[in-house]
Amino acid sequence: MARRGLLIILSSPSGAGKSTLARRLRVWDETIRFSVSATTRAARPGEVDGQDYHFTSEAGFKTMVKEGEMLEHAHVFGHFYGSPLGPVRDAIDTGCDVLFDIDWQGAQQIGNSGLQEHVLSIFLLPPSIAELRRRLESRGQDTAETIAKRMMKSWDEISHWGSYNYVLVNDDLDATEARLKTIITAERLRRSQQPGLMEHVRALQAEFEEVS
Ligand code: ADP
Ligand code: 5GP
Repeated sequence: MARRGLLIILSSPSGAGKSTLARRLRVWDETIRFSVSATTRAARPGEVDGQDYHFTSEAGFKTMVKEGEMLEHAHVFGHFYGSPLGPVRDAIDTGCDVLFDIDWQGAQQIGNSGLQEHVLSIFLLPPSIAELRRRLESRGQDTAETIAKRMMKSWDEISHWGSYNYVLVNDDLDATEARLKTIITAERLRRSQQPGLMEHVRALQAEFEEVS
């Protein structure tokens, strides 16, 4: 039966595990599309333009915002980040879910947009602040200064945990992955995600009246 795509928003303080879990979800279900954000920050080693982010200039970013091409955008850690609207529309119209790895500001903007009823928002908490620091350091991709900046901002992000539909403590990675899959499987069955239901119920009614 036809279904509408969900807008799956994953937020957390930097280092709690969003990108790792997003990658696992896409392996689990290849139809889930990842919303590739535009950003003005520099690419990290190994990041691919157009795949991890659309790396763009500040002028290019501002033009996209001005022309209404962003579903949401925010200033995070001194750089601009935003989710292009076009690919999101295409995905949900064709029944594909879209996965967003974005901060609380973006989650709030999408939650207040016309696509609100299709949003599934999930917040990841770290098991402890010490473990969050360890993960940021173990990722080995950021300078000590960048890590310090991200740790400083972590409480700001965590303080918004209460606005999300689901909150998971990402302690054991496999357990968190399993919980995420359970949530997505259930949320796909929300009435608002199944536009084909009305037609099915009408067919049931016609059949019911015929046999009764
Ligand atoms: P984010 O995208 O939220 O900034 P990442 O997914 O890049 O975070 O994770 C940061 C680091 O922590 C990575 O090295 C990742 O492998 C590791 N990590 C993620 N989840 C767990 C977990 N549950 N247990 C241990 N390490 C984890
Ligand atoms: P990073 O630089 O580590 O890739 O991302 C830094 C922060 O920016 C993370 O919290 C990430 O979720 C957030 N972010 C990435 N893309 C977007 C986006 O398009 N919009 C918003 N609002 N936040 C984003």
